[in-house]
Amino acid sequence: MQHRIIVLGAGYTGASAAGRLAKRLRGEDVAITLVNAEPDFVERVRMHQLAAGQDLTPRPLSEMFAGTGVEVRLAKVTGVDVERRTVAVVDAKGAGELGYDTLVYALGSGWNAEGVPGAAEHAYEIAGRAGALRLRERLARLDAGRSVVVVGGGLTGLEVAAEIAEARPDLDVALAARDGLGDWLSPKGRAHLRKVFGRLGITVHEHAAVTGVEADRVTTADGEAIPAAVTVWTTGFAVHPIAQATALEVTGTGQIVVDGTLRSVSHPDVYAVGDAAMVMGPGDKPLRMSCASGVPGAWQAADAIAARLTGGKLPNVAIRYFNQCVSLGRKEGLIQFVTADDRAVRAALTGRLAAVYKELVCKAAAWGVANPTLGLPARRRPVTQRAAARSSVKAPA
Ligand SMILES: Cc1cc2nc3c(=O)[nH]c(=O)nc-3n(C[C@H](O)[C@H](O)[C@H](O)COP(=O)(O)OP(=O)(O)OC[C@H]3O[C@@H](n4cnc5c(N)ncnc54)[C@H](O)[C@@H]3O)c2cc1C
Repeated sequence: MQHRIIVLGAGYTGASAAGRLAKRLRGEDVAITLVNAEPDFVERVRMHQLAAGQDLTPRPLSEMFAGTGVEVRLAKVTGVDVERRTVAVVDAKGAGELGYDTLVYALGSGWNAEGVPGAAEHAYEIAGRAGALRLRERLARLDAGRSVVVVGGGLTGLEVAAEIAEARPDLDVALAARDGLGDWLSPKGRAHLRKVFGRLGITVHEHAAVTGVEADRVTTADGEAIPAAVTVWTTGFAVHPIAQATALEVTGTGQIVVDGTLRSVSHPDVYAVGDAAMVMGPGDKPLRMSCASGVPGAWQAADAIAARLTGGKLPNVAIRYFNQCVSLGRKEGLIQFVTADDRAVRAALTGRLAAVYKELVCKAAAWGVANPTLGLPARRRPVTQRAAARSSVKAPA
């Protein structure tokens, strides 16, 4: 009988995990199903480009996984029952249920309005394709001289503000940041960011905590009103509520708590990767929601599943950070080198070279999803019944 592995979500991490599992395990031993709501792989790291009017390369999942042994199932996941080991789905034919022996949960995240009054009603978001396309359509209709306020001074906020300002120099683009502009960056990184934002004409409101969004303005905790014909909300991501509705151990924000092999600490037949997982990284700090840590985590999970099913050696690769890659429009960029636990060091790459570097990173990430073992030879090992039975037993605490 084949061991049924279901991977939920074909974003950066789910697709990486599914492809890698297919390379690590023999097709006759396992049935790998990749469930995704959309028919193609969405390059989330380019959503600011999509919003600013650029067209992205279509990447149909059916083509990406053709001949790999991974079955792509187009369906929306509506629930998971970790006691019965089933996934509830809805597709074009209606509601259904899929049974699994091992589950990889990789449903990613969406935007996080943080309960700020008016944000859900009036703000635009770019956490996914639907939101980015909605903003793109709104920007296309926006007359010259109108104001766009990006709320959030994190990596996503910086990227979208710069992208819109470069694509639409006729608009009045501003950024509202809770802290100082890029204050986690090195002095060189910060100075470069200020220079580029100045050149692009972006007004920066620092130490401005936005507490309300209206149709034509945002208001801050200090009582300031900033005109905003369009507000773009980028203060962070929130995970989908599906995991929280299960018996899985999750954090207060709904991320699945996993161990170093990305296995659920409460349910040993469930793994969680990417934004959906709470993984402790170097310095005992939770890894941030990113491809930079999510994709290596997906490789680790796939290798751990394969090892447990075949009686092989468990992987033990520390997931660490190397750099933060920030695009500042198409011609400028900033590569901030960081410590293993993501703190900026002095070295930073700036300018056009940094823009090229970032573009290569995005291309490599998409290529890696389509070629999960990065050209390494496949190491397919047989699944043994004993190892498979042991794989779903909880390890002693
Ligand atoms: C504009 C922007 C720029 C970014 N830039 C960077 C960057 O430079 N570097 C970096 O490291 N990170 C960056 N990130 C963050 C990065 O994109 C995410 O951390 C990453 O995509 C998480 O991967 P994932 O596989 O967990 O989720 P996702 O890539 O979001 O994939 C989740 C998948 O699950 C599917 N799905 C969701 N719900 C359901 C459901 N109910 N049923 C079926 N399918 C479902 C989705 O369709 C999607 O295919 C950026 C994000 C944004 C929005």
